Amino acid sequence: MKAALLTGIRQFEIREMPDPILTNETDVLIRVKTVGVCGSDIHYYTTGRIGSQIVDYPSIVGHEASGIIEQVGKKVKRFQPGDRIAIDPALSCGRCDQCKAGREHTCRKLLFLGCPKQLEGCLCEYIVLPQRCCYPIRRSMTFDEATLSEPLAVGLYSVERSMPVAGSNVAILGVGPIGMSVFHVLRTKKAARVYVTDMIEERLAFSRRLRPTWSGNPKINDVVKEVSQMDPLLMDIVYECSGDPAAIVQGIRLLKPGGKLIIVGITATDDVSLPMHELRRSEITILNIRRQVHCTQKAIDLIAKRKVRIGPLVTHRFRLEETQNAFDLVASYNDGVMKAIVDVS
Ligand SMILES: [Zn+2]
Ligand SMILES: [Zn+2]
Repeated sequence: MKAALLTGIRQFEIREMPDPILTNETDVLIRVKTVGVCGSDIHYYTTGRIGSQIVDYPSIVGHEASGIIEQVGKKVKRFQPGDRIAIDPALSCGRCDQCKAGREHTCRKLLFLGCPKQLEGCLCEYIVLPQRCCYPIRRSMTFDEATLSEPLAVGLYSVERSMPVAGSNVAILGVGPIGMSVFHVLRTKKAARVYVTDMIEERLAFSRRLRPTWSGNPKINDVVKEVSQMDPLLMDIVYECSGDPAAIVQGIRLLKPGGKLIIVGITATDDVSLPMHELRRSEITILNIRRQVHCTQKAIDLIAKRKVRIGPLVTHRFRLEETQNAFDLVASYNDGVMKAIVDVS
């Protein structure tokens, strides 16, 4: 099979590799259809790491994927060849304290697709996975939508964890695919006012399709001042989806006393300085989001029932051979890119 191998900083090579084979009776062989390029993949591409997770070259990245079941192990009952699926890229052990507590996403032995030293990713023609990672999708759902169920699940989980009540005022800082996923999910709830920011004008324009109360560019607007003029009591919840340390501080200043800062974005560096006295005096809750748990099926259902129209997030498509171009585009934020899809088939 063909695979896009990450061989160095900003460097992919398309190579011929042996086809993966079924070894476990509960595994399935999947023909990969589409793979979404995620911001986390871009961290691996441009810097070779996220924090202490360092890429061993060569390796295959990619974890937002859809496919078709090609072959099933002897004990697989839920699937047969030809079934169309979305993929949950997380493999938990099912036995540790975290798994037993329903926190499979922080499993002590978690293996995640396309994560260094864990599992190879999906930017290749075939992968083998346990059947429990596979979610059937209806004929009416496109492979792009199935792929986007992964970031949507992260948005869904972020909103569930933050528990907005009817009438909550919220801000989303950074409306890339994850910020937009949060926004889409909020639109299925009764959040009163949604303020959004981004440094990229095309992304702000994109977000206006969901009718935010206000949208602003922190390069141009004094975000805290303008938002506090419109809503003097400030925000109940801020979703930080940009990974920019300046936005984290801005998020704190946008919150009312007792407000919640939900950190979804991934910062490029480990150390971020926080205004501790402001946090303390306003008793701000900071909640970190680690991907998602138990939200894959719910995200698929939101798309299937047309409660969320996630498909339009796809702005660019590439062939597997053009993986490097896809990553260069997403890393540059050029051409109004929101979600780039690598079409493997
Ligand atoms: Zn992702
Ligand atoms: Zn576990």
